[in-house]
Amino acid sequence: MIIKFKEGTNIQQIEQLRSLLENQGFGIHESIGSSITIFGVVGDTTKLDPQSFYAFDFVDSVLRVQEPFKKVNRKFQPADTVVNVNGVLIGGKNVVIMGGPCAVESFEQMDTITPLVKSAGASILRAGAYKPRTSPYSFQGMGVPGLDLLKQMKEKYNIPVISEVMNIEDIPLFLDTVDIIQVGARNMQNFSLLKELGKTNKPVLLKRGLANTIEEWLMSAEYIMAGGNTNVILCERGIRTFETSTRNTLDISSIAVVKKLTHLPIIIDPSHAAGRWEYIESLSKAAIAAGADGLIIEVHPEPEKALSDGQQSLKPERFKDVVEKCRKIAIAIDRTLE
Ligand code: PEP
Ligand code: MN
Repeated sequence: MIIKFKEGTNIQQIEQLRSLLENQGFGIHESIGSSITIFGVVGDTTKLDPQSFYAFDFVDSVLRVQEPFKKVNRKFQPADTVVNVNGVLIGGKNVVIMGGPCAVESFEQMDTITPLVKSAGASILRAGAYKPRTSPYSFQGMGVPGLDLLKQMKEKYNIPVISEVMNIEDIPLFLDTVDIIQVGARNMQNFSLLKELGKTNKPVLLKRGLANTIEEWLMSAEYIMAGGNTNVILCERGIRTFETSTRNTLDISSIAVVKKLTHLPIIIDPSHAAGRWEYIESLSKAAIAAGADGLIIEVHPEPEKALSDGQQSLKPERFKDVVEKCRKIAIAIDRTLE
C-alpha cells in the first residue's frame, strides 16, 4: 500500500503516521522527493482500510499495490536508485561499463587485461573466481587464489571489481574482496543466498535466470531488499527460447519493462546472451539505445586460450571499439559514458 502525503506535510505529521503503522507491525519504505513524501507500507496490508487514512488531513492519496514486489516497485520509490560502488555511480546519467574475462585464470592474464579494459573505458573489472559450469569436468574457477588476484588488481590499478558468489559460506570472503557481488543466473532463485546478501549492504548484481519471468526476477530482488540491502543492480543476460543461433535470446524488452516497474538500475550482459563475440557490438549498441544503465562484457587477452567462454570473449582492441561506439549512442540519448 502506498500513502502519498500532501505537499507541505511536516515531520511531526509524518512521524505520527509512521508510529501508527509501525505499532501495528508494518514496515515503512520511505521515499522523499523534492516536495512530496511517499510511504510504501510493507506487510499484510489486507488488514488495512485505505479509506481510513483520509481521516488525516495531510494524506493526499492511498493506493493498493497489486504487484507482489514492493520495495523494488517504482510506485514505492518513483526516483531511480543510484548504487554507489566506491565512487562509480550505477543508475545515474552515466552509462557504466564492466569488462574482463569470464574467469580469473592467472596473474599474467589478469595483469594484462586489467589495464587494457580500464584504458578502453571500463570503470569496473569483472572476472569469476568460482564458475558455475554445466559440466563438472570443466574448469571450475581458481577459488580463493582467484579472489586474491582480483584484490591485487583492484589495488594495483585502482578499479572496483565484481565477481560471482556461489555459496553462502563464501559471503564473508567476498565482502572483504569485491565491490559488487554477482548472483549468477543459475542462482537467481537461491533464496537462502539472497536472504544472506540482504543482510549486507554490499552492492549485488542480480542476473536474470535462464528461464525466469521478469516478475520472478523482481521478486528475487525483493528478497535482497526485504533484508535491508538497497544496493541492488539487475542484469539481463539472455533467456532460453526456441532460437538456437545465439546462446540465449537477449530480452531487450526487459529494459523497458524493468524501467517501468522498478527504480533499480539495469545492466545488460551481451556476452552470455549472444554466446559469440561477433554479436556483442550489435547487442551492446541496442542495449544502450534502449536505456540500459550499463554493460558487462567478457574480454580476454587471448580468447582462443581462454579456460571458459573464449568464443564469446572480445579481444581488448575490439572491446575498446565497442565502448567507443556505445559512447556515441549514450551521448545521442543525453547520457554520458565515462
Ligand atoms: C558469468 O557472468 O560469468 C556467468 C556465469 O553468467 P550467467 O550467470 O549469466 O550465466
Ligand atoms: Mn562466462
